[in-house]
Amino acid sequence: MRNEFSLIEYYFQQHQRTRDDVLIGIGDDGAVTRVQPQHDLVTVTDTMVAGVHFDDTTPARAIGHKAVAVNLSDLAAMGAEPCWISLALTLPEADEQWLQEFSAGLHEICQYYGCSLIGGDTTRGPLTVTITAQGQVPEGQALTRKGAMPGDWLYVSGPLGDAGLALDITQQRYPEAGPHLQKLIERLHYPSPRVALGQSLRGVANACIDVSDGLLADLGHILTSSQVGAEIELDKLPLSLAMTETLSQQQAYAKALTAGDDYELCFTVAEHHRGKLETLTAHLKNKPVCIGRIKKSQQATVSFKLEGEDYPLTLEQPGFNHFLDDAGATS
Ligand SMILES: [Mg+2]
Repeated sequence: MRNEFSLIEYYFQQHQRTRDDVLIGIGDDGAVTRVQPQHDLVTVTDTMVAGVHFDDTTPARAIGHKAVAVNLSDLAAMGAEPCWISLALTLPEADEQWLQEFSAGLHEICQYYGCSLIGGDTTRGPLTVTITAQGQVPEGQALTRKGAMPGDWLYVSGPLGDAGLALDITQQRYPEAGPHLQKLIERLHYPSPRVALGQSLRGVANACIDVSDGLLADLGHILTSSQVGAEIELDKLPLSLAMTETLSQQQAYAKALTAGDDYELCFTVAEHHRGKLETLTAHLKNKPVCIGRIKKSQQATVSFKLEGEDYPLTLEQPGFNHFLDDAGATS
């Protein structure tokens, strides 16, 4: 066992470029890092389990990438700059090829975002990857789910539903999507956390969350925490070409509202900060898209509009499930 585990350590220590603020990294009983003055520390954790979050066909490099990406997405949603991660890895065996690809995927994304791996633990068992990531945010400026106000504009950072569509295609539900398959699988396996956007939203967004479980589910957390409702204009939902060319309009809306794993940000901005948002995001390739508005409401309800007209559909109505059934999004 010892040899196996020193092999594992080798993979995680090679190519490791350490930030200057890591005083003690991998190799001691604990890591010691220096937090910038006048900053708050933000800590997030996410676990990925084989057979639940990915299957046998998922490349090891993608698992390494995504395990980090989902954590950086949570840090982005809090407006934090990602700094350090630690890894708890449970492996059925020390497969050298797998470890090499997994650690490459993990290091690539860490390096891209200037994050250091500062420690971890390895055990034998069913394949499970747990990452804890830490980031810093100027004192008192962390974004939360709580501050949405009636009248705020509702935004998402990019196209929704692609990762869900990729899953459907791999399960043979939409074989006609062949030409877009590669792009969609990239979105599913190699999500890009909106790290730069999250940090520019500090002091601009009133509430923010990342879309991991589906827009309605995650927006629902903002609405519940902020005690407000929302109105979504269905025809404003950003959809990729792959989506519009593969699904009917209704199917595409349902997919964009309910599919998870996209890791875009969903946030709200007051009217007087809209100009600032535009300036701050002018340089981004994918600009945030306004999809609706926050409404005064005692319950966390969502209403819909289509081409400017009320679209009679609320989450409480049984009609919503019919809508999804028609769209083939539930089964
Ligand atoms: Mg989240």
